[in-house]
Amino acid sequence: MIEPLSHEVLIQLAEQYGTPLYVYHAEKIKEQYNRLKTAFSKTDAVFFYACKALTNVNILRYIKNAGANVDCSSINEVKLALHAGFPPSRILYTSNGIAFDEIEEAQGLGVIINIDSLSNLEKFGKKFGHAYPVGIRLRPNILAGGNIKISTGHDKSKFGIPVDQITRILELVRKYDMFIRDLHIHTGSEIQDVDVFIQGIDILFRITHHFPDLEFIDLGGGFKVVSKPGDKETDIALLAEKVGAAFAKHPYKNGKPLQIWFEPGKFMVSEAGFFLTRVNVMKETTGADFVSVDSGFNHLIRPMFYDAYHHIENISNPGGPVKNYSVVGNICETDTFAWDRPLNEVREGDYLVFRNAGAYGFEMSSNFNSRLKPAEVMVIDGQSKLIRKRDVFQDLLRNQLEVI
Ligand SMILES: *Cc1c(COP(=O)(O)O)cnc(C)c1O
Repeated sequence: MIEPLSHEVLIQLAEQYGTPLYVYHAEKIKEQYNRLKTAFSKTDAVFFYACKALTNVNILRYIKNAGANVDCSSINEVKLALHAGFPPSRILYTSNGIAFDEIEEAQGLGVIINIDSLSNLEKFGKKFGHAYPVGIRLRPNILAGGNIKISTGHDKSKFGIPVDQITRILELVRKYDMFIRDLHIHTGSEIQDVDVFIQGIDILFRITHHFPDLEFIDLGGGFKVVSKPGDKETDIALLAEKVGAAFAKHPYKNGKPLQIWFEPGKFMVSEAGFFLTRVNVMKETTGADFVSVDSGFNHLIRPMFYDAYHHIENISNPGGPVKNYSVVGNICETDTFAWDRPLNEVREGDYLVFRNAGAYGFEMSSNFNSRLKPAEVMVIDGQSKLIRKRDVFQDLLRNQLEVI
């Protein structure tokens, strides 16, 4: 396993580029991809990086060169992937709730498309009939994932066409003689229990016989990574074994199992990312000792939005006595990163690093409080490279039209 970037390297990067700063360790991303490839080496599995986790074009290019494909959540992600050099055949657009003209645009770009509503399926059928293969995103009506906010396959979730509406799906497919190339499910994020995937597969295999043109089954992403001490990652070797066995049990029309697709986001980039901050202010109170860093949920929203845990280390004082602190940000809104967290003694000016910051970190950042978005740095072959400049004040005014 690749060692995380050392405290010394992180401090040097904080000093060189300033804070707050996102740092991505490229080789860790490749390692994660290779771990998936190795685990699934006995099955016909293909991986599409769910790029909404982190779309910096250098990261996309790196992942393309590592051999993975890409899964997109918007037409702009599709365009970023094309810009990064992915050929359309390696780009999957799993849309949800989008206007049909965006699907037409994706079709025009020649990428692979999954459709998640009866309404868009009908429009697609009417326009393209059998001429353009398409996938169907289904909602399997199962509950999975770390918490309800990141669970997407249950019976109150907006995602996918409910599998109980299969009759209506089939009516459309027959009416327009549609070329249905894949069935897709993505049930949630941080799914530790591999049997959830098997449950999903069982549901899909009850209906695959209706679709004579199927080439693959897309099981989405959602693999859990280790973020809290004691966490257990999704056991990808066990997953590969069980998924492989389930597919082998269901040979398709030519006697061969269908190809298996996955869309890992967090698994690919979470651990590769480090978010570096500097301590502005220490405040001791009767209720808590506060550490205020030069950031807030405008830069890393996951703790406030998902109750996500990010491990924090005081890299400036790793040998200091351990005390409990509330780590907070500097914006005018409650933006607690961690409550009552044991850290090596913190002093003003210390650098704190947040781990697991590669996925949904920078990508969900904003300019709230008219703060500037952080810079991004990639460490590759032992060299650091700036891959996004820190915002400057002018960026706040860039799209504003001063009419009065
Ligand atoms: C977000 C998303 C993923 C990736 O989820 P992770 O939990 O980051 O692995 C995969 N597929 C689809 C359709 C998604 O929306």
